[in-house]
Amino acid sequence: MKNKIETRDVNFWYGDFHALKGISMDIEEKSVIAFIGPSGCGKSTFLRLLNRMNDLIPDIRLTGEIRIDGQDIYGKGVQVDELRKNVGMVFQRPNPFPMSIYDNVAYGPRGMGVRDRAVLDELVEDSLRRAALWDEVKDKLKESGLGLSGGQQRLCIARALAVQPDILLMDEPTSALDPVSTLVVEQLACELRETCTLVVVTHNMQQAARISDSVAFFLLGELVEHAPTAQLFKNPTDPRTADYLTGRFG
Ligand code: ADP
Repeated sequence: MKNKIETRDVNFWYGDFHALKGISMDIEEKSVIAFIGPSGCGKSTFLRLLNRMNDLIPDIRLTGEIRIDGQDIYGKGVQVDELRKNVGMVFQRPNPFPMSIYDNVAYGPRGMGVRDRAVLDELVEDSLRRAALWDEVKDKLKESGLGLSGGQQRLCIARALAVQPDILLMDEPTSALDPVSTLVVEQLACELRETCTLVVVTHNMQQAARISDSVAFFLLGELVEHAPTAQLFKNPTDPRTADYLTGRFG
């Protein structure tokens, strides 16, 4: 399997605070990787570096290299808009735009200049199907996305998929969802690996076990261990991982 994402000795500072320390990691194409670890250990910071979401924070510093498809995404000439099209993001709280379900999903493609109604219709249907939402909403595409109870996060996933990203970043995508919606989103994550590389931050170790191919355990800004999911949970090589898994800290 080819590596989709490679990071080499990534260090990151917020002002004087050294938030990420020497992170080197390979993420295989079309796999699901889960980031786990105690709160505040740098998971979201690292996730947000993968589509340059941290760029606008004042007084930050990054060293090392982050490559997607072999290209340094912080290198000269990289178009951040293009990068973000290729690396979509789903946030902790579902954030549908205050517009119709259809317009939510068509938003990205329209922003890229797609105007043809038939093309948009197809993209919207395909994205909603991939987000396991089509059957629920196909008769009410003109209704507000805000009115979708239980399906808002899937709508946000459909919106992210509509620009056909290769990579989808998910920052605790189910922590604000009810148990049924959580299971649907987990199932979806498992299916999406057929077409996308998924990077999921989760507080929930059972969730990591259910959805991921590999798990990266972070602690105090360091990557302690990255291993295939079953191996990390059954046979962690680092004593700090074992301590975390048995609930001795965090
Ligand atoms: P996690 O996702 O593991 O909970 P974060 O990446 O959110 O951890 O945070 C890592 C550390 O960086 C924490 O100590 C947090 O307080 C700090 N941090 C996060 N965002 C900022 C910011 N915008 N400015 C300063 N410090 C931040």
